[in-house]
Amino acid sequence: MTSDILRIDLHTHSTHSDGVLDPVELVVRAAGRGVGLLALTDHDTTAGCGAAAAACASHGIRFVPGVELSASWRGQAIHVIGLGGADCAALEAHNAELRARRRQRIEEIGARLERRARLPGIRLAQAVMETAAVPTRQHLARAIVAGGFAPDISRAFERFLARGRDGHVPVEWPSLEATLMTLKRSRRTIVLAHPHRYKLSGGALRALVSEFAQLGGDALEVSLPGMSPDAVDRIGRLARASRLAGSAGSDFHDPAVPWNPLGRSLKLAPEIEPLAARFLPAASALTVPAA
Ligand code: AMP
Ligand code: MN
Ligand code: MN
Ligand code: MN
Repeated sequence: MTSDILRIDLHTHSTHSDGVLDPVELVVRAAGRGVGLLALTDHDTTAGCGAAAAACASHGIRFVPGVELSASWRGQAIHVIGLGGADCAALEAHNAELRARRRQRIEEIGARLERRARLPGIRLAQAVMETAAVPTRQHLARAIVAGGFAPDISRAFERFLARGRDGHVPVEWPSLEATLMTLKRSRRTIVLAHPHRYKLSGGALRALVSEFAQLGGDALEVSLPGMSPDAVDRIGRLARASRLAGSAGSDFHDPAVPWNPLGRSLKLAPEIEPLAARFLPAASALTVPAA
């Protein structure tokens, strides 16, 4: 066992979607935390990747351009990350379509909150639309908190935005198949994001993972902050059963949120191929911390 553990983070957000740090601030923070391999995976845009790549080069961090796409599977929203590769017209069109659906959804949520929840929903939604290139529910939750209508983001979701609440607007995102096809066209390595967070039965999650693998997916996120050891085991078993690699990242959005700091020590079971190794020169073998 060695103490030379490479810190990696293959799932982060910047101000180009719903993160609060711009790409350069994100990279500076990652450098300060000793991250050696970093991906920027904003929702539905790669606009921050150029600035992040340049900042990583000056900090000696290996950079992987990424994107996190919303998709629908059996009526449930799931997130798929594409890493590496290159932008192409198909990906740009796909992202533009997702952003258009997001804008329409935020307006509908605002109107519903105005009608049903006695919030100034239209004004809040308008403020989000004016400031966010990729308007997400996270932005709206922040506006709800800033307006004094909820004490924090998670309660803004619980009270107003979650399924069953006044501001819930179901969205039909592109299918899993269409999403993977777009990511294949841009030659990206494809990761199913945070599989443990979906509200699916064990059988449905197995079906999702198996379909993801059949469609050409490469890896599952098997290690995120806040994941219980039981979930790490469960998702790790699913990865092995479908011969998928394991990815690790923080899903970092905001330095004020303490539970998902940037940078992760890789803690994958030895049977799981670490996806990060595919983005490193062969010589720099990843090291796994002692149990
Ligand atoms: P969406 O617009 O549905 O893609 O949601 C945007 C973002 O909101 C997600 O990427 C998360 O960052 C955040 N989010 C979703 N649900 C919650 C929640 N229950 N509490 C806090 N943040 C959330
Ligand atoms: Mn987000
Ligand atoms: Mn996500
Ligand atoms: Mn994310």
